[in-house]
Amino acid sequence: MANIAFLGLGNMGGPMAANLVKAGHWVAGYDLVEAQKMTAAEMGVSVMGSAREAVAGAEIIVTMLPAGRHVLAAWAEFLPAAPKGALVIDSSTIDVDSAKRAHEAGRAEGVLTLDAPVSGGVGGAAGGTLTFMCGGSAEAFAKAKPVLEAMGKRIVHCGGPGAGQAAKICNNMILGATMIATCEAFVLAEKLGLSAQALFDVASTSSGQSWSLTTYCPVPGPVPTSPANRDYKPGFAASLMLKDMRLAQEAAASAGVATPLGAAATQLYALFAAAGHGGDDFSGVINFLRGTQASG
Ligand code: NAD
Repeated sequence: MANIAFLGLGNMGGPMAANLVKAGHWVAGYDLVEAQKMTAAEMGVSVMGSAREAVAGAEIIVTMLPAGRHVLAAWAEFLPAAPKGALVIDSSTIDVDSAKRAHEAGRAEGVLTLDAPVSGGVGGAAGGTLTFMCGGSAEAFAKAKPVLEAMGKRIVHCGGPGAGQAAKICNNMILGATMIATCEAFVLAEKLGLSAQALFDVASTSSGQSWSLTTYCPVPGPVPTSPANRDYKPGFAASLMLKDMRLAQEAAASAGVATPLGAAATQLYALFAAAGHGGDDFSGVINFLRGTQASG
């Protein structure tokens, strides 16, 4: 069992740290917010007074923070206090350029590093069923895997530094665009007098099939577990989808790649969020496309 430091005990980090405790690890935690620290302490996390205090003596350090700037600032603060040879894992969803800079900062301080963003949301974090997409050396991945297995079901080594973040945003760009295409098809079907169920029955077993349709159908009825059946309560909030779509756009601009559908989908989620629906499930964008939901 390992001595682990966990920084960022929010909606995702809190339950992830709790699963490490359940697996028998000793977990020193730190967050800026008092309420997060108290909840984590109730779950068995040993809460420390600072990030530097938390990482002292840690074999493995995990960060789960909002965005790239938080990760770079936190790493700059605690890395000098981290034991040489420790493994530092960032599971936040951040831009690829910041992820690569974090790897470089870690290497300069003599630690192993891994970017390991997740999919699965707060339900996956609580249930220990997350998917981890990992970027870094084979050595870092091999050391991380048994620890990540206490928090997730699928642990995938995607390549070198930044490859985990690249996999996450490419996947979510597909998801964001296919959801809008799926929503447009249901809206068109309505206008053509075709029932949602009939479209679902055909498209779910034809070439229009996708996860957005068969698992997360944006109209109520065909897939009873989808957020459409509970008034588009998330699920996966539109504001989080927008964050990931924007990260994909930043990466595309940085790499000089044209992603016209990704760009259009990003703008639609931005409009949807600006109209007051950032807290709705992202599949609620169908009402926006119908023109029946101008502002929230
Ligand atoms: P959150 O805002 O609930 O948690 C982030 C925590 O980090 C907060 O408690 C904040 O106080 C803390 N924090 C910020 N700066 C800190 C610092 N310097 N030191 C210590 N703590 C600090 O966010 P979340 O929903 O837990 O998401 C965390 C990351 O996971 C994000 O990058 C998000 O995009 C990604 N993610 C979230 C979901 C989801 O469904 N919520 C799903 C997949 C990935």
